[in-house]
Amino acid sequence: MPGFEVFGEEEKRVVLEVFDTGVLFRYEFGPQRGDVYKVKQFEEAFARYTGTGYAQAVTSGTAALKVALAALGVGAGDEVITQGFTFVATWEAIFDVGAIPVFAEVDETLNMDPIDLEKKITDKTAAIIPVHMLGAPARIEDIMVVANRHGIPVIEDTAQAAGGRLHGKHLGTFGACGTFSFDSVKTMTTGEGGMVITGDEELWRTMSEYQEHGHDHAVNPGGRGGEGRSFIGFNYRMMELQGAIGLAQLAKLDSMIVEQKKNKALLKDAAGKIAGVTFREILDEEGDSATFLAFMLPDKERAAQVNQVLKDNGAGAINFGDNTWHFYPQWEHLLQGKTPCKNGWPFSTNGKRRVVYDPDALPQSAGIMGRTLVYQVPIKLGEEQKNTMLEALNK
Ligand SMILES: *Cc1c(COP(=O)(O)O)cnc(C)c1O
Repeated sequence: MPGFEVFGEEEKRVVLEVFDTGVLFRYEFGPQRGDVYKVKQFEEAFARYTGTGYAQAVTSGTAALKVALAALGVGAGDEVITQGFTFVATWEAIFDVGAIPVFAEVDETLNMDPIDLEKKITDKTAAIIPVHMLGAPARIEDIMVVANRHGIPVIEDTAQAAGGRLHGKHLGTFGACGTFSFDSVKTMTTGEGGMVITGDEELWRTMSEYQEHGHDHAVNPGGRGGEGRSFIGFNYRMMELQGAIGLAQLAKLDSMIVEQKKNKALLKDAAGKIAGVTFREILDEEGDSATFLAFMLPDKERAAQVNQVLKDNGAGAINFGDNTWHFYPQWEHLLQGKTPCKNGWPFSTNGKRRVVYDPDALPQSAGIMGRTLVYQVPIKLGEEQKNTMLEALNK
């Protein structure tokens, strides 16, 4: 990752094709665009690729989560369980529909611990959002068993694992829906953009209407202005340029993963020689999209020592225990309830706190994240970078 490493003539050509029609918009202008709809084609290709029925393109991975939550009927008074190791977007979307994020522990998969998940379910839990972090599967089969036992829908945040699978089945197709991001750092990118996939036609229809101000998308003689509305919505429309780039990037996704797997194997081999190293539990090596390599040391101190050597040799790794964007105890704005809203929403209503977060609430996750070091795996690993990384690991 990321997909911009392989931007080429294909992306340029499709963008120019869209410009030649003068129609940069996903809906309408049929005759002028010769009835070619790139976002629609991208949706159909993405659904086909992941082996599911329907796909809804939107403006970002965060919007994808919000559209999925809204379509599942999640709102004020509800709780949504996600994991304490994720990007802030996952819980931003939960707050944005009015619900309250509840954080579960991660285990050595670096993803949601199904045992802790079950402990956090209450009669207010309206959805569960496991995240397939760093390109590899969560224990999604076990999570589905827990969720089904309680009758709670699952949204898989698959922003970091496009093309990943578990036992041959695409990530994002286990739950009620799966969400993807195509932002600047993701395995395939459209600049900005997102997608929700689902096998449920009714749910897809609701998402398709919600992301476009509630337009009912029924054929009617009055044209777009005459369309009806089933409910209020918002605008998360993807543009044609993004749809066109998405088609070009999707066509390269499997080959990007093949390259990442080769590069990851090299780095893993070198990291494996460090005394005391173990690796993140990967549930299905075949299905790993190999965008990251995560390895563990026996404790936090040893991890810091090893990373110091790596840094001194020009190949420092990420320690997500210290990373301010991806791990619960580092989200001071969440812990302190910081919001631009004058009445304190979403942390408070009219000055009264409705939720307080304890920085020490996830000891198991803190233990694991503190001793874990992570490398992003490039698609194109140049000779020089490769040698620097391998030499640093050998030292
Ligand atoms: C990137 C990301 C998102 C949000 O995607 P955007 O397209 O940047 O809005 C959501 N969840 C996770 C886990 C991510 O990594």
